[in-house]
Amino acid sequence: MKRLLILSGKGGTGKTTTAAAFLQFAQARAAADCDVDAPNLHLVTRQSVSPEVSAFFGGEKVVIDPERCTGCGLCAHHCRFDALEIKNGTCRVNEYACEGCSVCVHLCPAGAVRLTPDTAGQKELYRNPDGRIFSTATLKMGRGNSGKLVTDVKMAMLKNAPPDAGLAIIDGSPGIGCPVIASVSGMDLVLVVAEPSLSGRSDLERLVKTAQTLQVPLAVCVNKWDVSPDNTQAIQDFCQTAEIPFLGVIPYDKHAALAINTGQSLAEIDCPARDALKTIFEAASSLLEH
Ligand code: SF4
Ligand code: SF4
Repeated sequence: MKRLLILSGKGGTGKTTTAAAFLQFAQARAAADCDVDAPNLHLVTRQSVSPEVSAFFGGEKVVIDPERCTGCGLCAHHCRFDALEIKNGTCRVNEYACEGCSVCVHLCPAGAVRLTPDTAGQKELYRNPDGRIFSTATLKMGRGNSGKLVTDVKMAMLKNAPPDAGLAIIDGSPGIGCPVIASVSGMDLVLVVAEPSLSGRSDLERLVKTAQTLQVPLAVCVNKWDVSPDNTQAIQDFCQTAEIPFLGVIPYDKHAALAINTGQSLAEIDCPARDALKTIFEAASSLLEH
């Protein structure tokens, strides 16, 4: 099974719209949404079952036993993350600030502090009756370890994909942070959806470095190219110099907003953006075959 990951340098460039259209063009039987901070691919992929849900434990957080706590304040005094405070004679934890370093556990003279696994999010696996697998997850507000969760989402898709799934399509996280690095490893091709702007060019260069470091082949397309033909040309020139396949451009198309607002894939709407995406999809498929 070939694995195609779709990335962008930041949110709002059309990454998920591209992933949703590709899913439809490929009739993909294995897919994953690795944008665990803001997953939304499931909204346009119409899963026909409820997901199997499991907890994601991202680390540990402190729990205070109020029966034992004497309110001495020793733990709060030494917590480097200001996660503890004494209120009404007992210690309270700010779960968003606690880093689970365990200093307070060792210091507490009353044995009132312990660390407990923190439910940092939830994983969801859709097993559709027709064999299609869709893996996704949601990270809770203020939690880290998104790279670990992305790896879990990917592994769930790979483990459960039907044997005849020829192509898996993965919607990645925006940016170049930990979740992106976790999603890039093991891919056969990364397609970057670039924005025709100065920042879009800069984001693209950073993504190229990330993919090259991880030795994963990369290709590029530009969304809403007609908003800035000059920047589109500059991105195309950059790709040519860096010997990166440039797969095409997608025009600004009001049908894209219509598709998003009605929960449809752009592949279902007869419009110029759909035709451009189809051409780019075919070029990506051809790259994956070689
Ligand atoms: S060190 Fe222990 S007893 Fe003292 S305030 Fe902290 S939790 Fe309570
Ligand atoms: S585990 Fe570390 S970060 Fe969390 S409350 Fe204790 S000292 Fe502070």
